[in-house]
Amino acid sequence: MKKPVTVTITGAAGNIGYALAFRVAAGQMLGADQPINLNLLEIPAAGAAVQGVVMELNDCAFPTLNQVTATHDAQVAFRDCHFAMLVGARPRGPGMERKDLLLENAKIFSAQGKALDAVASRDVRVLVVGNPANTNSLIAQRNAPTLAPDRFTAMTRLDHNRGLAQVTERAAVPLAQVKRVIIWGNHSATQYPDLHHATVGGKPALSVVGESWFKDVFIPTVQQRGAAVIKARGTSSAASAASAALDHIRDWTLGTPDGDWVSMGVPSDGSYGIPQGVIYSYPVTCKGGRYSIVQGLSVNDFSREKMLATHRELCEERDGVKDLI
Ligand code: NDP
Repeated sequence: MKKPVTVTITGAAGNIGYALAFRVAAGQMLGADQPINLNLLEIPAAGAAVQGVVMELNDCAFPTLNQVTATHDAQVAFRDCHFAMLVGARPRGPGMERKDLLLENAKIFSAQGKALDAVASRDVRVLVVGNPANTNSLIAQRNAPTLAPDRFTAMTRLDHNRGLAQVTERAAVPLAQVKRVIIWGNHSATQYPDLHHATVGGKPALSVVGESWFKDVFIPTVQQRGAAVIKARGTSSAASAASAALDHIRDWTLGTPDGDWVSMGVPSDGSYGIPQGVIYSYPVTCKGGRYSIVQGLSVNDFSREKMLATHRELCEERDGVKDLI
């Protein structure tokens, strides 16, 4: 067995947190030979609920779970943590404008950025799931000046996985034959799910699924999949979001398969004409514990317009919280 690593999950008693904690503790994220110290951060009002999660985690008797701690103190939760999965966020309340939601969450993520800066392991990997995920990640990053900026990421892996599933169904092939889907931009309805570089069984995906299906069905289906799940279940996606969070950290840490890439919200660096200063979803490959944005892909006018539209939305979100970054 290796030395234990510390994984912190915020909002651990919520829908996604509850689906995530057990899989992380069971070794499904970092492997069966990696002991986990699990820190669960919750707000005081969810203190009893999170104690129930702790009881159930202990009752699972997972060989990989070394220790579990629940707290409402971010400095305790993030102390020496190697992986911070920031799931907890304020949901939109009745009559709440998008701007109010942004500001409420900005306060949470600036405080968590400061706490990470103060006490987390210097090589911490941060994944933000709580919405608006890209901008929350930017806020946390800007409030953690002593941590490397590239340690802060946002989740677009669920959108990526949804894209893979849609193509798999349309082409009627096994999932393993679908590669190189891309989600560009924000984890919101402006995201751009792109198939121009995707392949199905080694052939260009667009030649298999058809250009009109891509534009008229695929893009809106992936963009609005979250709303479709809410309509069907009466509550938002949780197991699939938790699974995507696990995929994101696993691939970032252990690497992406040869010949394929994944989508991650990462600090923009000017690649594909997206200026620095936002957390933007790109295709990335991961190796040796680091991610690299895939370079050199051709971008046509159709794609360019959509990539810039989702960037504009990220700039608007950032400008709405400028006092906190
Ligand atoms: P969920 O666990 O269902 O969702 C948590 C966050 O993930 C929300 O911001 C949600 O956004 C977001 N999210 C991102 N991607 C997805 C996706 N694909 N599908 C669904 N959600 C997605 O929320 P709950 O309300 O059940 O749980 C939140 C928990 O967080 C509560 O237990 C609460 O006590 C806690 N909390 C903790 C805080 C802290 O640690 N400081 C602060 C605030 C809350 P969206 O709302 O847009 O669906």
